[in-house]
Amino acid sequence: MLKVRNLINGEFCTAKSKAELDVIDPATEQIIASVPDSDSQDADAALQSAEKAFEAWENISNEKRARFLIKIADLIEEKREYLAKLESLNTGKPYSLAFEKEIPRAAENFRFFGHAISSLQSESFDMGEVGLNYVLRQPLGPVVCISPWNLPLYLFTWKIAPALAAGCTVVAKPSEITPFTAFALAEICQQAGLPPGVLNIVHGTGPKLGEALVSHPLTRGISFTGGTETGKKIGAIASQKLLPVSLELGGKNPALVFNDCDLDKTVSHLIRASFTNSGQICLCSSRILVEEKIYEAFKEKFLNAAKQLKVGSPQSETTQMGPLITKAHRDKVSRAVEVADKAGAKILLDGREYFTKVGPGFFFGPTVFEGLSMEHPVNQEEIFGPVVSLMPFRNENEAIQLANATKYGLSATIWTADLSRAHRLARRIEVGIVWINSWLHRDLRTPFGGKKHSGIGREGGAEALRFFTEPKNVCVIY
Ligand code: NAD
Repeated sequence: MLKVRNLINGEFCTAKSKAELDVIDPATEQIIASVPDSDSQDADAALQSAEKAFEAWENISNEKRARFLIKIADLIEEKREYLAKLESLNTGKPYSLAFEKEIPRAAENFRFFGHAISSLQSESFDMGEVGLNYVLRQPLGPVVCISPWNLPLYLFTWKIAPALAAGCTVVAKPSEITPFTAFALAEICQQAGLPPGVLNIVHGTGPKLGEALVSHPLTRGISFTGGTETGKKIGAIASQKLLPVSLELGGKNPALVFNDCDLDKTVSHLIRASFTNSGQICLCSSRILVEEKIYEAFKEKFLNAAKQLKVGSPQSETTQMGPLITKAHRDKVSRAVEVADKAGAKILLDGREYFTKVGPGFFFGPTVFEGLSMEHPVNQEEIFGPVVSLMPFRNENEAIQLANATKYGLSATIWTADLSRAHRLARRIEVGIVWINSWLHRDLRTPFGGKKHSGIGREGGAEALRFFTEPKNVCVIY
């Protein structure tokens, strides 16, 4: 059985209290590992270590820091198969998804920011004969990075890489549910020769460890990805301490499907957008709005395709959907479908059937319903599972009004052959990312983040490097 440990000051250790939590395989419900149940003492040790390492890390050249990041990227690539196996075992996601997409992206995160730091620019303001102002961008100091369970290594590295590239030292906490690849990353960083204390990885729960990290007096910035309610708590602590904070939170993402779209292509993309990783991606489409004239045709094709999806063992090559992450999460997803059902929604495809079809494990099949008003809580709150609500609309204005009618604002997709309309609507949708006739195409240079209750701040490219640095104006009078 795997025994996950913390990495603090370049050394692997248990929690100081020796307390541990079980890690459960979502596909078998068996205990497969233990993880430190760290607390404020471990948070303190990790932040002291990050503080001690900061001055030297800040002052080495960008090129030298980049070399470490690129070495880490190379090692992730070398261990791609091993990391994909760990990720699939720990999360229940299909091995192919981890191997094809997520592990390569984790390597790419390090490689990208290793290169990007050399082109981070700062400004100068010429005052003619009087003098000159120039701007130094300096790293914040020790920062805390906290990430969720749905794309463990992919999202963990998306924060850690720009923080390290910018010259910050890091205390990082993965989700206590999915610690495996974070532990493997700690081993990789040791192998890459990263100096002790530059990256500390600590394991434990949000309330006990996460809050202690965020509240610690040595923390100089917080980058968080997770649920909106957790984000609000972290935001409240950060505002009391006047700390820079980046919050990447939940979504209830609309897809707008117009009469003139390429129907077969749209259905195939939206199947992927709705059910990849069993709908447990913050960017998944959960509200599909379809123009009246093609509503019935879309529904029929979408249901037929959803019924074909293969739900099963994460290790099987043909599996397209594994189990949900935990029993508690499956109960939450199941409750949402039950509430929709009781409120009069028509359940067109019911994933609850998979409770016993493929068991043991927290399996839940693709679920599609219609006939629920947009105001209903099930159409308002994030479900974060393979559950899709279908709804017809009459015209562009109604589509926009429905799309914007939740508190979230993460992403949206627009499906149409009329590109003028697509651009017109992209301006009017209240979200941070719009994909036109596609989904989840990511260019790491672009800003990433949400509006409204989907978050504050932007990750990605120069935005991330700006977040982890602070501008200082230096004025020289001749
Ligand atoms: P969560 O908020 O429960 O936990 C996320 C992380 O925060 C975990 O590491 C957890 O241990 C920690 N945490 C929990 N309570 C904390 C506290 N009080 N203080 C400090 N840390 C705390 O979220 P989750 O269930 O792990 O992830 C699912 C959520 O993440 C969904 O809402 C999803 O939309 C969101 N998400 C957003 C994005 C994005 O980029 N916007 C990406 C992926 C997931």
